Amino acid sequence: MNTGSDTAGIKLDIENAAGYLNLPQSRLKGLLDRRILLQIWNMGPVKGRDELQRLFRFDKSVSKIEHGSVLYQKDGTFELIRGFPKIQRAMLLGPALDRHFSNLETVAVEEKMNGYNVRVADVGGKILAFTRGGLVCPYSTERAGHLLERDFFDDHPDLILCGEMAGPDNPYVPKDIYGIGSLDFFVFDIRHKGSGTPYSLHERRKLAGEYGLNQVTFFGEFSLNEAPDEIAGIIRELGKIQHEGVVIKDPQMILNPIKYTCSQSNCADLRHAFKFYNDIGQDYFFSRVVREGFQSVEWDENEEELQKRCLQLGESILGPMIESIKQVRDGTRIADNVQIRVKDPDTISTYKDYLRRLGVDTVFGEPERIGDEYLVKIRKLNQSTNDKTESMCKGELW
Ligand code: ATP
Ligand code: MG
Repeated sequence: MNTGSDTAGIKLDIENAAGYLNLPQSRLKGLLDRRILLQIWNMGPVKGRDELQRLFRFDKSVSKIEHGSVLYQKDGTFELIRGFPKIQRAMLLGPALDRHFSNLETVAVEEKMNGYNVRVADVGGKILAFTRGGLVCPYSTERAGHLLERDFFDDHPDLILCGEMAGPDNPYVPKDIYGIGSLDFFVFDIRHKGSGTPYSLHERRKLAGEYGLNQVTFFGEFSLNEAPDEIAGIIRELGKIQHEGVVIKDPQMILNPIKYTCSQSNCADLRHAFKFYNDIGQDYFFSRVVREGFQSVEWDENEEELQKRCLQLGESILGPMIESIKQVRDGTRIADNVQIRVKDPDTISTYKDYLRRLGVDTVFGEPERIGDEYLVKIRKLNQSTNDKTESMCKGELW
């Protein structure tokens, strides 16, 4: 990956940065040398490129600083936008809740929306959207600029909005399931710069509400005893409408949250992934199949329910894969079709460049004007699945 060679203009002030991060200078220097701490690419929204050169991202976790954290070097001072922490998964709801939340009276349940994670923050007066890895995504940044009013950041420059970008005009996880016309941002966390400390759930919902921000659905707060049954009920209902699942949280946000998902969402993931079976890491498939096993056992399924689950799982795996093989055999290259919608035509080329530097192989269609925006169709080529399938069809051995 080509990173940073054109951003040599601004150097990290190692002495002061080390002090700010509470790391020895030699350690920080080592991180830069080994490219674990990297200057962010000189790209992104055209306006504000200079500011981007002041950003350095952590490509791995270092001490307590999570992967995806971003250090902002202002003149003489620093800000740290902490990476979004990993959320672990419950395989069996009952035992996992008991064990993980044992000293709580109640747990809060929110919807887990299926889109992609962004952290939005004011950086030197500009609203930027960071991906999980700490990159500034030009598309998400443009969208965040239109979706969010400045007033939240004007009043709270020290806060970070963490949320899910969801909807059909989504180049990473496009979904039509939420009744969203294009793309929306749903807040699920508000955190402080520097420490990364989250707001408690109710304070966060109140603050986000005061600024009219979209939020993930709150299903309620349940005692630890009733939570597994309540959540199982919520999950069954969410599954019927193809939604993803829930995140179960300590209302005070002191203990880490836990996620749990619907079978239908696992199967939807598998359907998509098996279409491009050779481009996706094998862990992705395996973990989703195992989830089905645990859910079936916890829900104590009868013969008929089990049959249904087996059929759904098998169809999600084989159906799309067979379709892909047939298409390639018949001479059509398969691709993942996604789309973006932008106001500023510059975002299209910046985003194209961004994906290219990430190593994502794409073909961008001609922008189509819709009102004051441009819709751009993007084909993600998934070369590996195409090439592998093609060679198998020609008789090569696996
Ligand atoms: P992780 O490393 O956090 O497990 P992942 O890439 O495996 O990430 P997911 O399985 O989608 O991601 O689960 C975690 C993600 O769920 C979060 O990073 C966040 O983007 C998303 N999410 C959606 N709704 C919520 C919510 N209500 N609360 C917290 N996270 C949410
Ligand atoms: Mg997700």
